[in-house]
Amino acid sequence: MTAKTSFPPTQLFIDGKWVDGPNKVTVMDKFTGEVAWELSGAGPEEVNKAVAAAKKAFPIMAKMPIHKRAEILNKTSQLLAENRAEIANCIAREVGKAVKYAGFEVDRAVDTFRLAAEEAAQIHGETIPMDAVKSGEGLFGFWHRKPLGIVGAITPFNFPLNLAAHKIAPALAAGNTIVLKPAEATSRTGAWIVALLEKAGLPAGCINMVHGKGSVLGDLIVKHPDIAKITFTGSLEVGLNILANAGLKKVTLELGNSSPVVIAADADMKYAAAKAAIGANYCSGQVCISTQRIYIEAAGYDTFKKHFLEEVAKLKVGDPLDPETDVGPLILEKDAIRVESWINEAVEQGATLLAGGTRVKNLLQPSVLENTKPTMKVISQEVFGPAVSLIKVETFEEGLKLADDTQYGLQAAVFTRDIERVFQAIHGLNFGGVVVNDCPHLRPDQIPYGGNRQSGLGREGLRFAIEEMTSIQTVMFRTGHSR
Ligand code: NAD
Repeated sequence: MTAKTSFPPTQLFIDGKWVDGPNKVTVMDKFTGEVAWELSGAGPEEVNKAVAAAKKAFPIMAKMPIHKRAEILNKTSQLLAENRAEIANCIAREVGKAVKYAGFEVDRAVDTFRLAAEEAAQIHGETIPMDAVKSGEGLFGFWHRKPLGIVGAITPFNFPLNLAAHKIAPALAAGNTIVLKPAEATSRTGAWIVALLEKAGLPAGCINMVHGKGSVLGDLIVKHPDIAKITFTGSLEVGLNILANAGLKKVTLELGNSSPVVIAADADMKYAAAKAAIGANYCSGQVCISTQRIYIEAAGYDTFKKHFLEEVAKLKVGDPLDPETDVGPLILEKDAIRVESWINEAVEQGATLLAGGTRVKNLLQPSVLENTKPTMKVISQEVFGPAVSLIKVETFEEGLKLADDTQYGLQAAVFTRDIERVFQAIHGLNFGGVVVNDCPHLRPDQIPYGGNRQSGLGREGLRFAIEEMTSIQTVMFRTGHSR
């Protein structure tokens, strides 16, 4: 079966044209298990053509006045908003994400493009007080930012629209050109952005898109000598591989996490439970900042547990296209089997299953564990599924210590009404982001966002991504007039 709707096209996009490649990418509907659509798949030749087109277009993009770049980005934002329902439907089918959350993802991408248009107008440098040192006397100096050239953008399946937007929008705002490779399982959503940029008037070659296997096409992009920068969101394993192969390219990596939440006994337990039930199961737990480990001070443990289990029981699991659904299927049956096996292994090793744990194909019920140990996979590794552990701790400090005892460092959260505890958390947690009185999955799209430790390199968020997608050039005039 091919696509029922002809927009966006199912082909590759190279040098302003929709073209066929030698391979096929079959995208399944993650809930029905039927073929949703087939797309054209690229081979090495198409990657080379995409890079050549981006190279040819770079002077056009670099010289494009900022008001024109902003106009294209704003127009794309508007077109995304106009096509909200259809794009959300595409995301719901490709990812299995509940359509109400798929709609929020579209809203966020609308913001991401609008914010990029605003940030484009803020790209600037500074004059340098050259005569602050003797050797600078008689010099006038300034620095400014220049686009890097071609940005290779490699995106994951779980937020196929907004995480592509977080790479494409700042790259264009800064005057770069792009070769995009969306995750295979969610390729059509990537095509939405590309097709809308084309409608918005982006010149040929400024964005190019290839569909297909990451291990083949992604690898070619990473190693291509004409690409200046790789911006990647995905797993730690692939991120490390990219770093090993990228040479001297600039690299931004947005990787995984094992997101902790620490709940002090003074917190509003009913409120915290409602937030955490969503934080752990939103997008079936397939969010890099999905709540995975909840440390609760002993005095509040039973109250939190009672409210939390009530909130989890309220979640509607099933068809992502049903507007009432909260939790849809996982991306592949093998991923649901993996999460189920980690739950079973934890139970065999002494954990107690309080809810869920049952699976039909790729649909796993929201699962809650207690009595886990730090060495269990559900604690020490990124679960990336709807499985969360409740852990009783004697003190808030102990909770912070355990929360921080991880190889990851993307976002963490605490619930407390005590300002001293808030500052203990800020200073005690080595994470790129700390959330107070909500869960780690908060990401308003303008914030500097990214991980410490094994969670990544660099920051996204429009202003910060633009910094990572430009280079600083210093200019020094010998004029005899430093001031
Ligand atoms: P993945 O690493 O399997 O794939 C991500 C992308 O990399 C895909 O486009 C894939 O085709 C490509 N790829 C695969 N092998 C490659 C290679 N050898 N060279 C170059 N590219 C290659 O990740 P996924 O399963 O799509 O996404 C899940 C992971 O992403 C989780 O670990 C999650 O935590 C992480 N993630 C992180 C963030 C963040 O902002 N930090 C956001 C979302 C997801």
